[in-house]
Amino acid sequence: AKERGRNDMAYYEEGLAVAMRQRTSLEADLRHALERDEFEVFYQPRVCVHTRRVVGAEALLRWRSPERGLVMPDDFIPVCESSGLIMPIGLRVFEQVARQQAEWAARGLDLQISVNLSPRQFSHPGLLDGIRAALRVAAGRPARLEIEITESMLLARDERPREVLDAFEAMGMSIALDDFGTGYSNLAALQRYPIHTVKIDKTFIQGLDTDRPLADMIVSMCRLMRLTVVAEGVETCDQLDWIAGRAIDQYQGFLCARALPAAAFEARFIDEPLA
Ligand code: C2E
Ligand code: CA
Ligand code: CA
Ligand code: CA
Repeated sequence: AKERGRNDMAYYEEGLAVAMRQRTSLEADLRHALERDEFEVFYQPRVCVHTRRVVGAEALLRWRSPERGLVMPDDFIPVCESSGLIMPIGLRVFEQVARQQAEWAARGLDLQISVNLSPRQFSHPGLLDGIRAALRVAAGRPARLEIEITESMLLARDERPREVLDAFEAMGMSIALDDFGTGYSNLAALQRYPIHTVKIDKTFIQGLDTDRPLADMIVSMCRLMRLTVVAEGVETCDQLDWIAGRAIDQYQGFLCARALPAAAFEARFIDEPLA
């Protein structure tokens, strides 16, 4: 048994070493990717439930790697987080979004675009100055930007979350609580912080946890608080029917479109022929 244990230990250590090597090479590749500008923002439409028109988009990051192909955020954002690379990469996202938004606005497509923030970005002391600088470079319009945060970011005991959110609000940005209902579901936070939009997590919409009554309750509360309610992860007409019967303002999901490269997005959603 002792022998066996030693073997298991050796396997374990070997596995760990492999994982660490992979992580290190991914981190190095991400640094190069940043230098070579391989990060590309995709856009998923946000649709008005009542008019069925596209009123906005969520910016979703992709890594177009010549070696790895198109890499999805779940496969690289965690390493960006732990390595700190999320800061410079995240600021590029703001810059890209602001440029794209201005270009679309000039062609008659005025969209509110939301940008995700991760915990590490949110708690970074240089975040606000970084975003201001990125928007200045790209002549961005904060009034048409929305910041997506998650509830866990509001759990800090100090005043930092409030200061950051107040600063965003002062810049004219809107603030959305993402993945709502999956975490601490702190309805009090909705009152305590300047929050304008609540994004109901896709697990509710898809009825995966068969807790649509809870989703109903959340929607009613949001309505009372005059928040904009967005349903995420709408894939079927049945789900859209359920949504349309509720006080939900917008939806996102594969039913309308996946996140698309900017060119594909405008080909589908800018009606007017472009000059
Ligand atoms: P999220 O913010 O919750 O984004 C929604 C995710 O759900 C996206 O995955 C989107 O493609 C996917 N989705 C949209 N509609 C549907 C649907 O109908 N069905 C299903 N099953 N999924 C749908 P994606 O693009 O892979 O992004 C994953 C996560 O990566 C995001 O989750 C967000 O937390 C993070 N992320 C993406 N872009 C950025 C970024 O620029 N900065 C930061 N910090 N995080 C980002
Ligand atoms: Ca999001
Ligand atoms: Ca979400
Ligand atoms: Ca998320």
